Amino acid sequence: MNKIFETPLYPYYQSVDQTASAPGHHSVVVIGAGPVGLGMAIDLAQHGIDVVVLDDNDKVSFGSRAICFAKRTLEIADRLGFGDKLVDKGVQWNLGKVFFDERKVYEFNLLAEDGHARPAFINLQQYYFEQYLVERVQEINSETPKIDVRGKNRVSAIKDHGAYSALTVTTPDGEYTIHADWVIACDGAGSPTRSMMGLDFVGRVFEDNFLIADVTMEADFPTERWFWFDPPFNRGQSALLHKQPDGVWRIDLQLGWDVDKEAEKQPDRVIPRLKAMLGDDVKFELEWVSIYTFQCRRMEKFRHGNVIFAGDSAHQVSPFGARGANSGLQDVDNLSWKLAHVIKGLAPDTLLNSYDDERIHGADENIMNSTRSTDFITPKSDISRVFRNAVLDLSEHHDFARPLVNSGRLSMPCNYVGHSLTGEDAVAGGPARSQPGMPCPDAPLEDGYLLSKLGGGFTLMTLNTDAPSPQEIEGIEIAHLEMRATSDTNKTLGERFLGTAERAIYLIRPDQHIVARWSEYDAASVQMAVATALGKTQ
Ligand SMILES: Cc1cc2nc3c(=O)[nH]c(=O)nc-3n(C[C@H](O)[C@H](O)[C@H](O)COP(=O)(O)OP(=O)(O)OC[C@H]3O[C@@H](n4cnc5c(N)ncnc54)[C@H](O)[C@@H]3O)c2cc1C
Repeated sequence: MNKIFETPLYPYYQSVDQTASAPGHHSVVVIGAGPVGLGMAIDLAQHGIDVVVLDDNDKVSFGSRAICFAKRTLEIADRLGFGDKLVDKGVQWNLGKVFFDERKVYEFNLLAEDGHARPAFINLQQYYFEQYLVERVQEINSETPKIDVRGKNRVSAIKDHGAYSALTVTTPDGEYTIHADWVIACDGAGSPTRSMMGLDFVGRVFEDNFLIADVTMEADFPTERWFWFDPPFNRGQSALLHKQPDGVWRIDLQLGWDVDKEAEKQPDRVIPRLKAMLGDDVKFELEWVSIYTFQCRRMEKFRHGNVIFAGDSAHQVSPFGARGANSGLQDVDNLSWKLAHVIKGLAPDTLLNSYDDERIHGADENIMNSTRSTDFITPKSDISRVFRNAVLDLSEHHDFARPLVNSGRLSMPCNYVGHSLTGEDAVAGGPARSQPGMPCPDAPLEDGYLLSKLGGGFTLMTLNTDAPSPQEIEGIEIAHLEMRATSDTNKTLGERFLGTAERAIYLIRPDQHIVARWSEYDAASVQMAVATALGKTQ
């Protein structure tokens, strides 16, 4: 077994701030080197911003945490420069099967169409995800040092000074203070920053326990997500099986509320449960066992002056639907370009309020889906259970019942249709999937895939028409992607962006979300859309 989580990947060192006579002043300090904090640092660095990352630990996280990483996360990782590593190591899957008692009642394919660079999902241990982030940090720093990750630097106090925040940092060599214009709190669900600032974190706690066992075994189960309701090996409860790399399998067994957690974690209790599920002949070894309870909650606001919360510190969901780390990476995608534009003086500070608007909308969508899944999986009353079981019975033979089966609606990219940074939709016959506010759908091109050509900055994509190039609008360089789409060339691109229209022009944000689209180029309309996307028209 890979023991990457035992190695200090960002070991403690004494930084200049610790011996300076006055507190060092930094533009951005990120608290927490989890998937969200490291992703944020990389994205900001790619925008040319220097970042200090403080983490109370010096290793990647261990134990049974995230395993399912969604297509949108892989696309963001591509933009951040570590997508290939994830996909090369991860176990790819598109197919899920649902069992009720001993019967398979339903199966679903999450990627029902071709023409995407990335699969619907990969399964990969969270420690690998974090390892690749650390390696990407090292790669960026080997060209120009931009990201200073300080292990064993625990933020123990935070004070708001209006224009900046002062952070007290506790290290093996004692305390020091640093100042930051912007603090991004990515310090996880238990966020000490949130507590130190006396901020809320409200929502619902689910009264249920889940045994999560990561086991190494040689097994010939297919690479699919299998979910059981009320199986014979865990009567009255649910179970989930997922394959991970290195011959490791994730098994989730619902236990109910009133259990002795310590006793349930012991091998003499766990092994018989697993044998009942896998059969006596399957040889396995326990890699990690834990018991989790789940909560769905969020902060009322993610932005508090110059302190901004992202990832689990801002919102938390149950794992059903794999929306934790996946939504945290969408926070990264959304916040980094906005903060970089504000720091560079290219956008007003109020642009950051749209992070609250868009990502609170994302968090609510995730909490709603995750809560519904959890309610379906763990019915809270006898009548809910009767309804749930009836849906499962019907779904075996009746199509209409299948959409009601909810074993975890898996993370989908969030869209910002109708939100404040979204501009006009002026393409008659343009497809709904590429309307303003949507994340750009991927499409195969003659030389690769569309998304690899977008992101980082603003892009004007012209399809079967033209626009001046290059252009500077509102002080920003707008890249021009000139595309042709006909029935012979880039056909899928045409289907996904033209629909029944003959030509179109799309303005696309640095996070690959569509701002506006038109049938004809009009300089004033494009300028207005860029201003809207930068929060200048509110
Ligand atoms: C059983 C389980 C299964 C899951 N499955 C999935 C899944 O399949 N897909 C998915 O997307 N998500 C899943 N998740 C959720 C996922 O693990 C989290 O959403 C993700 O880790 C959040 O990342 P983060 O960076 O916001 O926080 P964290 O990963 O918690 O990182 C926070 C970091 O902040 C540091 N820190 C804390 N306090 C301080 C301080 N005072 N000073 C400095 N540093 C500090 C911590 O050391 C840590 O490194 C699962 C979670 C669990 C528990």
